[in-house]
Amino acid sequence: MFDEFSIYDVMSLVGLDLSKIHSSQGNFDCPICGGKKKLNVNVSKGHGGVCRCAKCGAGGDKLDLYLLFQNPHLVSVRSKSESDYYRPSEEDREQGLKELARILHIQRKDPTFRAKVITAKQAADTAAPQKAIASAEQRNAAYTALLKQLRLSAPHREALHQRGLTDTDIERIMFRSVPMFGRTVIAQKLVEQGINLENVPGFFKVAGENGKLQWSIFCPNPGYFVPIRNKDGLIVSMQIRLNKATTEKTKYLFFSSGIDTLTDGISATGEVHIERGEEPPRIICITEGPIKGYVSRSLYQRLTGRDDLALFCVVGTTNYGKIRGILESYLEQYPVEKVVEIYDFDKFTNPYVSRDRDHLEQLLREVILKMRKKLRPQYEDGKPLPMYISFPEERYKGKGIDDHLLALYLEAHDNCLPCEAETD
Ligand SMILES: [Zn+2]
Repeated sequence: MFDEFSIYDVMSLVGLDLSKIHSSQGNFDCPICGGKKKLNVNVSKGHGGVCRCAKCGAGGDKLDLYLLFQNPHLVSVRSKSESDYYRPSEEDREQGLKELARILHIQRKDPTFRAKVITAKQAADTAAPQKAIASAEQRNAAYTALLKQLRLSAPHREALHQRGLTDTDIERIMFRSVPMFGRTVIAQKLVEQGINLENVPGFFKVAGENGKLQWSIFCPNPGYFVPIRNKDGLIVSMQIRLNKATTEKTKYLFFSSGIDTLTDGISATGEVHIERGEEPPRIICITEGPIKGYVSRSLYQRLTGRDDLALFCVVGTTNYGKIRGILESYLEQYPVEKVVEIYDFDKFTNPYVSRDRDHLEQLLREVILKMRKKLRPQYEDGKPLPMYISFPEERYKGKGIDDHLLALYLEAHDNCLPCEAETD
């Protein structure tokens, strides 16, 4: 039965607009959490299509898509994939498959239903094949060259000062304001420098005066760039901190050009930002968002005089899967004493964040246990045993680790920000 229906059949049944599928995917309102356009449906991935909500993590295959609209019992799936899913239970799936067969048997007699499904399927089949994103090295070269062309506006600098960063930090990290004019000219300068912009998220092509296509930059909304660096320090992705946040959740956008209307653009991928000190890390904190990482490391250094803190910063609380491999290699290489989960304070109030936090904790404990066995000789030799800590409610002095450390810093320095102490 599973192969006898398509994801288009399901979409038609549950009332998702088939014409919203472009380049094999579309975003719809999530029936589980109500997130606007958070449910991503990809018709070409997996076995006949997949879906997943970016907000609550609900998703699965084409059968699960049907069931998400039937108020299912969701179970967590710990797969090899880098993000967790919450999919309908096996009982619900069994039941759902029978129900689908019965309904489709009736629906397919309706010619308009069939025509809609066939048109959508043809449109998707003829869509361009998915491109591969540029390598980390190529992205780093393009983003670094771009940031070097840009400046940071005074209000943006002031906002970063207020978060606890100094001008030295800001220069090192390369925060820059999004250019509001001359974006195609800037892209041309990069091309002249020999930078390859092919398949780098954020870049796309526009027709120049002579009608010839040339590279440009897609960042229509004012704000500033926040580089996301991988474990090797390469800028593999960027966020844009928007000037005007509409809601708490849309303060940040990825620098991305994977929109149907943009020629030769490509979507950004989720990455974990790694921020670490110069010394071998003894403390690892897992938190949310790259700015928190940058700010926290800098403040920790000023507060303690040590530079042995590493921060793994996820973008979105469900996207902690990539941490597994990074944490394993850190435990192997460094004398890590503490692994601290310090998601934002809403882990105590928001049920989705709370659930994601629980699963992150499970992952961290698993990795620590595994490495304790694997590295037993090292530990017997005196390497400190890593301990897991979940940052407790009563100790938060702010919303996140950055606010927490800033509060401690201000207490210790007569309410003077670090930028006020920087003399050079
Ligand atoms: Zn959802």
